[in-house]
Amino acid sequence: MTALTPPSAVKRVLLVVAMEQEVRPLVQRFGLEQIQPSPFLRGAPFVAWMGEVEGLVLHVVWCGRDPRFGNVNNVATTAASVCLYAAVAAFGAPDLCISAGTAGGFASSGARVGDVYLSSKCVFHSRRIPDAAGHLEEYGFGHYRSPPLGKLASHIGVKTGVVSTSDSLDAVPMDLELMRSEGTSIKEMEAAAVAWVCQTLSVPFVALKSVTDIVDGPRATREEFEANLEAASLVLQVKTDALLRAVAGTLLAQWANDGSRTAPAAPAAPAAPAAPAARRATDGTTTTATNNSAPPPAAEAPRAIPTVVDSSSSSVAMSIGPDGQSFEVLRV
Ligand code: SAH
Repeated sequence: MTALTPPSAVKRVLLVVAMEQEVRPLVQRFGLEQIQPSPFLRGAPFVAWMGEVEGLVLHVVWCGRDPRFGNVNNVATTAASVCLYAAVAAFGAPDLCISAGTAGGFASSGARVGDVYLSSKCVFHSRRIPDAAGHLEEYGFGHYRSPPLGKLASHIGVKTGVVSTSDSLDAVPMDLELMRSEGTSIKEMEAAAVAWVCQTLSVPFVALKSVTDIVDGPRATREEFEANLEAASLVLQVKTDALLRAVAGTLLAQWANDGSRTAPAAPAAPAAPAAPAARRATDGTTTTATNNSAPPPAAEAPRAIPTVVDSSSSSVAMSIGPDGQSFEVLRV
């Protein structure tokens, strides 16, 4: 599958986000204004905001809630696909679309709670359509390659890897086997669907995912996800900021991997956080990362550290420095 890189500079970015807990820190950080009246068809639950970051026009859309089931977030592929399509219809095609959110990570690929990943490729792991020629089978997986952005990943201090999508928070053994065979680092519920819409509309796409839980770890997914959602959403906020400031006005092609335009299909080795960084032991640790190269954002008040109620080693708390860029991930 051809990765799309726009021929012109990135001036308009669209973020698609599934959960209110993930989108609120972004709205706050970028000082976004909600678009009212809603630009979406009457009855659509989606919510849109707009703002400006480093001269680029930023639209953020959240899939909204479903009042039929206790007002839960509209997570998973259907809402994300329709929300993105409606957003492109309302605002026009952006130069880059990002599926931003939280995800499960595979410890076997080096993922840890609090890490952030940029997709090298997005696949579906639960669209199993066996056929003799294998065309439908491969269609099922999807194999949506992201533009090669290795330099960008190093610049903003995130890892790169394969992101695998299904409509389920849990995974049956077949899902796990297929994810393993695809070299998956990240498991979530929207990215490949958004990637398909983007490919169909010729919009360059990448997923940016912050790890809340470890798929191949000892803790129950839901409990670990909930314990880390707030902190992981703040890490996502910081990395989204760094990404947008880096790509604003640039050609995506200039962020390609060194010496190659080919994105790695297999999970990358764990990347070092952006310098200067200090990563101490893994138990009771503190990780400090600062994005020196990114210009500092508008001054804002230091944030409180979200309280982490769980004392397991796979919980994180997050503290953002007064410069809005440096942050601490506290592993407790
Ligand atoms: N508890 C939430 C629903 C969570 S569904 C609610 O009440 O609204 C999980 C969301 O986080 C999805 O948007 C998905 O993309 C992401 N996610 C985080 N960890 C995941 C995992 N291990 N597997 C699949 N999706 C995960």
